Amino acid sequence: MPKKRAKDKPDLSNKIKSGWEILKESLPEIESYNREYLRFLTQVKTEREAVEHLRDHAGKARGLELVENRGKALAVCRRGAIPLKEGVRIVVAHIDCPRLDLKANPLYEDTDLAMLKTHYYGGIKKYQWLARPLALHGVLVKEDGSPVKVLMGEDPNDPCFTIEDLLPHLAANVQYAKKLPDAFQAEKLNIILGSRPDLTAKENRVKEYILSLLHEKYGIVEQDFVSADLEIVPAGPAREVGIDRSLIGGYGQDDRACSWAAFAAVRDAASKGCTSIALLMDKEEIGSEGNTGAKSMFIEEVLWELAGRYGEEIIPSRVLFRSKAISGDANGAFDPDYPEVHEKMNAAKLGYGVCVTKFTGARGKVGSSEAHAEYMAYIRSILNRSGIPWQTGELGKVDEGGGGTVAKFLAEYGMDIVDMGPPLLSMHSPFELSSKVDTYSTYLAYRAFMEDK
Ligand code: MN
Ligand code: MN
Repeated sequence: MPKKRAKDKPDLSNKIKSGWEILKESLPEIESYNREYLRFLTQVKTEREAVEHLRDHAGKARGLELVENRGKALAVCRRGAIPLKEGVRIVVAHIDCPRLDLKANPLYEDTDLAMLKTHYYGGIKKYQWLARPLALHGVLVKEDGSPVKVLMGEDPNDPCFTIEDLLPHLAANVQYAKKLPDAFQAEKLNIILGSRPDLTAKENRVKEYILSLLHEKYGIVEQDFVSADLEIVPAGPAREVGIDRSLIGGYGQDDRACSWAAFAAVRDAASKGCTSIALLMDKEEIGSEGNTGAKSMFIEEVLWELAGRYGEEIIPSRVLFRSKAISGDANGAFDPDYPEVHEKMNAAKLGYGVCVTKFTGARGKVGSSEAHAEYMAYIRSILNRSGIPWQTGELGKVDEGGGGTVAKFLAEYGMDIVDMGPPLLSMHSPFELSSKVDTYSTYLAYRAFMEDK
């Protein structure tokens, strides 16, 4: 019997190709996209800065409508040819990141050092914040309502701040002998602010000198810390990583990889189909609470606002029921140093494109909105049709841990939604790692979704 020729045999197995292979003709586009993304990561370290930066960029682009919420959440919208009442396309991502916030009464002096007390925000590994340069970003609002913006520690000529760590010579009992959560305690995450005494002061001489400097530079008094959003973040720029420059390293890629991709997608999308919205939310890292988080009704306000501007009559909840959405969020990449936490067949890998995650949650999908099979088929068809590198991925082995995203809060409106974003290594650390081909694939995927009719 003659052997059946290979070309007659249909390819039945699912073969996942490297994104670098699929996009080998698009290297200049990958590079130029990531140059903009690197700038965004370097210049933007807080949710307020993200809103400001994107407001400026949107102003330079054509045809974008903005709806803002308290300078901490933002909807960037492009009107489509199809009326609002038929539904909209939403890519929702978050612009808050794990960090250290200052307490309401932060400033004190100990052992001739001026220090600031912090309260961490989101899921951090505390030891990663020790003995490294840190910057202070944020705003204090004076009693008369006037804001005072603060940005210290980013310019190479600026002083930066730090949290000291114990020398190894003395760490045996208080660190090495303990379990990690006991070895590194939140109340020891105190920022070193200065050490020089005010020679004219009688007591707390270092603190007094710091207060006089703050008053001189910003016109603030100690009580102004009470009405402030001040965030301590890793200092310094995002960088290319690797001799081949294939990776991006930087703080805040969860979820600025997705928020930048969502913004760039709505900026560049053609407006032939539905109205597209990049919905950039705050507070995801602490459960999407509050009036700037995804649990708020901001998206309804966005639709009321757009309907007014477009002269359409709508009921936002009905529009949302007819809408489709992507929850843009980063996923954990397969970690070659800790393969035991992953299930290899269902873990996303760096360099294989945007990761589609059907469900999140923990202990048996608890807390997940899970996308339906029909919606997964729809998303898969867009990605395949457009030749975009993509993969699927679960966050770790079953029962290893888990996590959630904002997907379930938008699903409550009745829209279909699925999680999609690049996989990261060192997620939630001060220096997260992404692959340039994955960040670019994420952008391509969001844009193809917005342009699909
Ligand atoms: Mn995230
Ligand atoms: Mn996160």
